Amino acid sequence: MSKGKIGVTTENIFPVIKQYLYSDHEIFLRELVANAVDASRKMKALSSTGEFKGELGDINVRIELDEGKKTLKVIDSGIGMTAEEVDRYINQIAFSSAGEFLEKYKDQLGGIIGHFGLGFYSSFMVADKVTIDTLSWKEGAEAVKWTCDGSPEFSMTSSKKTTRGTVITLHFDEESAEFANKGKISQLLGKYCKFMPVPVIFGKEQEWKDGKYVDTDKDNVINGIEPIWAKSPSELSEEDYKKFYRELYPAEEEPMFYIHLNVDYPFNLTGVLYFPKIKERMSIDKNKIQLYCNQMFVTDHVDNIVPDFLTLLHGVIDSPDIPLNVSRSYLQSDANVKKISTYITKKVSDRLEEIFKEQREQFEGKWDNIKLFIEYGMLSDEKFRERAKEFALLKNTEGRYFSFSEYKAAVETAQTDKDNKVVLLYATDAESQYRYVEAAKNMGYDVLIMDCELDSHFVGMLEQTMENVRCARVDSDSVENLIPKEEKIKPEMSEEDKKALDELFKSALPEDSEYTFDPQNLGENSEPVVITQNEFMRRFRDMSALGGGMNFYGQMPQSYNVIINMENPLIKRIWDERGKSGDLLKQVCDLALLGNGMLKGKALAEFIARSQALLTTNG
Ligand code: ADP
Repeated sequence: MSKGKIGVTTENIFPVIKQYLYSDHEIFLRELVANAVDASRKMKALSSTGEFKGELGDINVRIELDEGKKTLKVIDSGIGMTAEEVDRYINQIAFSSAGEFLEKYKDQLGGIIGHFGLGFYSSFMVADKVTIDTLSWKEGAEAVKWTCDGSPEFSMTSSKKTTRGTVITLHFDEESAEFANKGKISQLLGKYCKFMPVPVIFGKEQEWKDGKYVDTDKDNVINGIEPIWAKSPSELSEEDYKKFYRELYPAEEEPMFYIHLNVDYPFNLTGVLYFPKIKERMSIDKNKIQLYCNQMFVTDHVDNIVPDFLTLLHGVIDSPDIPLNVSRSYLQSDANVKKISTYITKKVSDRLEEIFKEQREQFEGKWDNIKLFIEYGMLSDEKFRERAKEFALLKNTEGRYFSFSEYKAAVETAQTDKDNKVVLLYATDAESQYRYVEAAKNMGYDVLIMDCELDSHFVGMLEQTMENVRCARVDSDSVENLIPKEEKIKPEMSEEDKKALDELFKSALPEDSEYTFDPQNLGENSEPVVITQNEFMRRFRDMSALGGGMNFYGQMPQSYNVIINMENPLIKRIWDERGKSGDLLKQVCDLALLGNGMLKGKALAEFIARSQALLTTNG
């Protein structure tokens, strides 16, 4: 028997490991299984190259839990270790790298979030005693047993182990008793080891017999699912991708599209991303993408690795090149991570463009569902915007879809204003803005539908992205003025008269809002009064409601533009008889308010009563 002291600078690293380094103690299991899987694969490789000529036997990893004794064994028939290797890999390397790590990050320890393969030593987060019992594959090797109770002291003795491979035994400490539970271990294996490339066995499969579940004699392999991302896309069918999605997210509806990621230079990354079907807008879960490292689950928090808008996607990314041993803020500035993020953005836009070009009908059919991702992407990621403007669609109130350039070409002739700008008209609610949409259509205009949460931002982006384009909501001005073709003719009016006109109309409108009165000559057949909301003011309000940081606008009183058509016969009468035709003035203003859904409560009741009275007088 030999005894020794582990070569670490820190007096006792275990309390530190326990306290600070890992937010998730549970990852000890992943680390141990990953080591066992590695040793198993190495063994297979030695056998296939002929370096090892003996019997390979079953290559798998067994997990054995004793709930009573509170011990867990991870057993493999991999390459094992000689005494000299235990000394080199466990006593020296593992400890010293832990020591180095502590030295380097000691100032930020508190802020570091888990995940940085301390490997084997993570078992001391949950165990107060750990043993390694191992026999190397090498000819003439002697089995060794290493024991450590959590102090920097270990002991090494010879072992009676006769079969090749390694058994790691953990004795759970008191605080970690929760892990001495079959259900818990099952759950952790499902989370971390589902796609590991060597069979991982935990207990026996069960069957329902005589009113309860009993063990069969069949091993319970927990990682039956084939990780399709490790295969080449040419070997896979559409159905394979769908099946894999169902396995990952059993509760979700079929995905809209999938994207297979596969690159090995200048970094290594594979994966499959899916556009999920959105059930309810804006309630989509982020953090559905799982990050793996060589088929070993690392995390489902991929923010900082993929661009923000892509965290709305689902699926799997596997890369050994994403540094896992650093803090999140560091990740953002890592060159590899930046490249990875750029690559993923490019792949996603390539795939969308391909579907847009080759399966236009399918693309249109799915547009309403993927629109939110794409708009979010275009708003938040400049590179994506550059690409997406080629395939993003606009939908009009008749349900037809156009690309940006198609749309501009389609409306250019009818909708160019006097300043040579193409004016894109849009409605945010086809129902409540029906009147305005119809009026615009009667003028020969087309109207887009923009009823998504992000559209108030998106409209502004459209103006920046498409050249020489301006957007206007259909109800932002009288239809004659939405797309002004020539300088509008202002009625001649003295300053005094204008003041009197303002006062007159102000007296007939609700007091809690502000108005700007705008007398215009719009022809005798056009409406007498039109109430509109300034396009930009409204956009700012919408954006501040969405939390765009422009609260100033959100707090301002509603302000409206009141267009008074001086050529309309009713207005002429009201103006000529000013002060005398109070009911007519009220009626005309109320009609305009009603058209905007702004006539409510008492005012509405009065309007109805007044209308009935008018009908009776006229009848
Ligand atoms: P890492 O796996 O990151 O190298 P670990 O601390 O987990 O760090 O392990 C240190 C080394 O110990 C491994 O590189 C490997 O050589 C050896 N080792 C650990 N577990 C096993 C095992 N089950 N079988 C054989 N060798 C192992």
